[in-house]
Amino acid sequence: MIRLAVQSKGRLNEESLRLLKDAGINVDDSKRKFLGKASDFPLELLYLRDDDIPGVVADGSADIGIVGYNEIAETQADVEVIRRLGFGKCRLSLAIPKGVEYPGLEWFEGKSIATSYPSILRRFLSSKGVSSDIREIRGSVEIAPAAGIADSIFDIVSSGGTLVSNGLKEVETVLESEAVLVCRKDLLPENKPVLDSILFRFDAIQESRGKKYILMNIPSERLSEAMALLPSMRSPTVMPLALEGWCSVHSVVDDSSLWATVESLKKTGAEGILILNVDKVID
Ligand code: ATP
Ligand code: MG
Repeated sequence: MIRLAVQSKGRLNEESLRLLKDAGINVDDSKRKFLGKASDFPLELLYLRDDDIPGVVADGSADIGIVGYNEIAETQADVEVIRRLGFGKCRLSLAIPKGVEYPGLEWFEGKSIATSYPSILRRFLSSKGVSSDIREIRGSVEIAPAAGIADSIFDIVSSGGTLVSNGLKEVETVLESEAVLVCRKDLLPENKPVLDSILFRFDAIQESRGKKYILMNIPSERLSEAMALLPSMRSPTVMPLALEGWCSVHSVVDDSSLWATVESLKKTGAEGILILNVDKVID
């Protein structure tokens, strides 16, 4: 039995549970409970505040955890980061009042900075030789300058909308973050195969993200032109149609290039193009 710590509520909760569900690991969805158990997989779920996840994985109270990389960087917990999970993307940035001119990092010399991430900030400033007055506050960091609590802030940014609405501008990005899967350093040998199975499933899900399955009919004499447009995992699948002179081509394409590929395929005479979602990709 492996024990996984996830955020009990908040920005990472829903996506963490969805990832498990997509991986065929179904957990009774009672978020109020502290501990849950998967019905069809040897896994227990521990629901915690995100701040507590690095510590419980480091001390072995949980074997693995899903948490923002920013929390790992802040706590410097002794855990292994084994996968980036592609959600919960954000950055930790320094921001100052919008009307103030910013000459560079030296602006922060002697200034006060409000933050919930003092450890990351301290390390960053000392690596740059800047000394500032770091004021740790737990929440609502973005109101600190307007409230006269600090000259500037160091906080999580995703779209930047919160900064703008508080009259602030982002001037330095210090850390890029996303949700990560972390593991205790001394995982019990009996849990190693369970972890491998989880990784196998997570990787198949991530591999499928941003991919589409495409199939179409092509006049046989233009097949090579169409094939040149279609990258695939190995090579596109080609099948003859019952109708003489035509074949069916199947392939997997990246979402990002989907429309450009479809337009070019149309020009090679492709017809009856179907585009389907890809659920899992197993290499
Ligand atoms: P908890 O009650 O578990 O302590 P919290 O309030 O500290 O929750 P959330 O706001 O739920 O934390 O954010 C959890 C994580 O989501 C952050 O640590 C960060 O990794 C990530 N995240 C992504 N985008 C944002 C954002 N715009 N604001 C805050 N966190 C974000
Ligand atoms: Mg928290």
